[in-house]
Amino acid sequence: MGQANGRRAKFFAEHPMCIFCGGAAPAETEEHCPPRSLFKDRAWPEGFVFPACVACNAGSSDADLVAAFLAQLRHNSDVVSSRSEGIMRQLHRQHPGLIGRMLIRSPIEARARARRLGIEPRPGETHLDLGLVKVTAEMEHAVSVLASKLTKAVFYVHTGRIFPAVGSINLHWFTNAELLDPAHRQSVAATAGLATLRPPVTRGGKDLRDQFDYSYGVDTKEELLLLHVGFGDTFGFVSLAGCVPGQLDEMSERIDARLLKETGAIPRSPFKRLTADLGQGGTAQSASSSNSVEESHAHWEFPTSEAHTRPPI
Ligand SMILES: [Zn+2]
Repeated sequence: MGQANGRRAKFFAEHPMCIFCGGAAPAETEEHCPPRSLFKDRAWPEGFVFPACVACNAGSSDADLVAAFLAQLRHNSDVVSSRSEGIMRQLHRQHPGLIGRMLIRSPIEARARARRLGIEPRPGETHLDLGLVKVTAEMEHAVSVLASKLTKAVFYVHTGRIFPAVGSINLHWFTNAELLDPAHRQSVAATAGLATLRPPVTRGGKDLRDQFDYSYGVDTKEELLLLHVGFGDTFGFVSLAGCVPGQLDEMSERIDARLLKETGAIPRSPFKRLTADLGQGGTAQSASSSNSVEESHAHWEFPTSEAHTRPPI
């Protein structure tokens, strides 16, 4: 038996069950979460390898590709690198119309979107040069799959327990462009004080937090996890995971009741409930394009302008 086989055997002896579907299925594969393709030179952070059953590991490969495409948008100068070319070729094969649907070709639409975000082109440039793009249903789905898995992975790393199948996860994800909106920033900042632990993310002593950064908090019973994640300066998410059925619903009802008492209004929550079968079972959910998706995450931005900095998370 070679060294690699010995290492694998030890890994599965220490981590016998899949951590992504509640701990009932035996682990047969090692899954990198976040996927290696999200990192420059596929240099993934140490410790971010998890035991997964075949269905969970294979179930997210399509979503992983779209997420990798999003993550590489941040390295604007890298867009022509061989890694990006590979991702782009595969993206064209698996999602032929995706890039076409992202692009904004009308100057009027580009101007309207820029105005809504409160940004202006630099002298000599047009609104089209701002690089605003639309978020499509595929992206929505890909980030939901990634966030669901990463939330369970972080829960496993920091509590030593597998997130139960009866638990639920609420997700609020955002693009760099959405963070230009003060209301959006506020809603992210509102929970930042509860996610105060920020572990190192490294490979061979090299800090990788410019590509993947996270902070988290858990309650004393270790039933609730709040997670803040940023992927470079392109996209990020806040997730709230509760192990006990109904726990998150009760929490949001309590919060709504308090806000109603204090301010007389309930703001629309940016959090969405993730479905339990997300990214599992081999086939990705069909990601049909819908207007409501575009409205909820209407803007993306290629990070071409130095005016738009890293998400404050
Ligand atoms: Zn599984």
